[in-house]
Amino acid sequence: MELVATAVKKYEDYMEIINTDTKAQLDYFVNKLQGKKIAMVNATSYGGGVAEILHSMVPLARDMGLNIDWWVIKGADDFYNVTKAFHNCLQGEEGILSPKDKKIYLKYNELNAAAVDEWDYDFIIIHDPQPAALIEFMGSKTKEGAKWVWRCHIDTSTPNPDYWRFLYNYIKQYDACIFTMEEFVQEKERLRNLTFITPSIDPLSTKNVELDVEDARQIIARFGVDIHRPLITQISRFDPWKDPLGVIDTYKIVKKEYPSVQLALVGSMASDDPEGWDYLYRTLRRAGEDYDIKVITNFNGVSNREVNAFQTASDVILQKSLREGFGLTVSEGLWKGTPVIGGNVGGIKYQIIDGVTGYLVDTVEECAEKVLRLLRNPTLAQEMMEAGRERVRQHFLITTHLLNYLKLLDKLEG
Ligand code: UDP
Repeated sequence: MELVATAVKKYEDYMEIINTDTKAQLDYFVNKLQGKKIAMVNATSYGGGVAEILHSMVPLARDMGLNIDWWVIKGADDFYNVTKAFHNCLQGEEGILSPKDKKIYLKYNELNAAAVDEWDYDFIIIHDPQPAALIEFMGSKTKEGAKWVWRCHIDTSTPNPDYWRFLYNYIKQYDACIFTMEEFVQEKERLRNLTFITPSIDPLSTKNVELDVEDARQIIARFGVDIHRPLITQISRFDPWKDPLGVIDTYKIVKKEYPSVQLALVGSMASDDPEGWDYLYRTLRRAGEDYDIKVITNFNGVSNREVNAFQTASDVILQKSLREGFGLTVSEGLWKGTPVIGGNVGGIKYQIIDGVTGYLVDTVEECAEKVLRLLRNPTLAQEMMEAGRERVRQHFLITTHLLNYLKLLDKLEG
């Protein structure tokens, strides 16, 4: 396991964004948890929503005076292949968890646990399935000296039973389990301190801080986008659940009626996602030789500022997921006042109130129809934009998210 270094964040910078009630509560719980040591543990420090959240939450909590570390477990290709199958199958894909895969999964959890001396944390928060079995292998001092929390970020509403049963052996040992939505929970009554917390975005991160529209346009022009023509964008990993192929099919329908439209598919390649490359190539094949489709990755120089620029300067943001734990990209888009159309699944349904803060869609055809409606009705887009930003302000900012964690830790402390 490795400690992750994070940038510095200043709590005082958030004063203009949070309301007095949230501030008072944050101060209260930070004070109550003084002297306690907290560890966050996940599988990657780069790529995907969990890393995105921890890069903000950990330094912010630290600046508030909390003693908090972020650890990333180490793995190799065989482990990541197995954990990717865990991810897919827990989100409902068919598959059988073989004894060999179980062995690989457990071997790396055991190795990671053995790599650290006894820990003296009071709270250990484990994110997602990859490190979930650490609890089994940590030394007795670490195991018994801490309250263990398992945080599930994925959409486990219809899990493959084989995988769920295996995972359940470990999560039932935790003192608390956090899910994003009630519909994601299996065997509710048997999990301890079941808690629901939605993820969040950091309004002051480079990705979300306000960017001048003209500057944003200049940035996306560098990737070959014609800034005088409409642009649809989806920002996400190249993953079947994000449905980049469905996004291209949507674009192709729109293109017939609105020939000037362009599409940008922007996706980072996460270090724990071996399937990403395969899906990137499939996406490129589906895009074919249409030069109005831009497929861009972090290897083209897309980082947080560029993602911000795409979200700010696009006419419509898509997140056409088929399963989605939450989908930070939805809140990121709404926060920038850009209309968002999302798949009618999982955590996207929390963020988009259909017809009010955006549109929820079930099919490619419906998605194309909603894109056309937004492109043709700038006034409609404007109304949605205001409602969307307000929804994020009220429910999905990092400060409220952190407060919800602290409330849980305080409750576990008794
Ligand atoms: N992201 C990024 N660059 C990319 C693609 C995605 O920075 O090229 C970020 C995106 O802005 C968001 C996170 O990665 O903050 C993805 O989180 P989300 O919850 O949408 O999906 P996940 O990847 O966790 O399934």
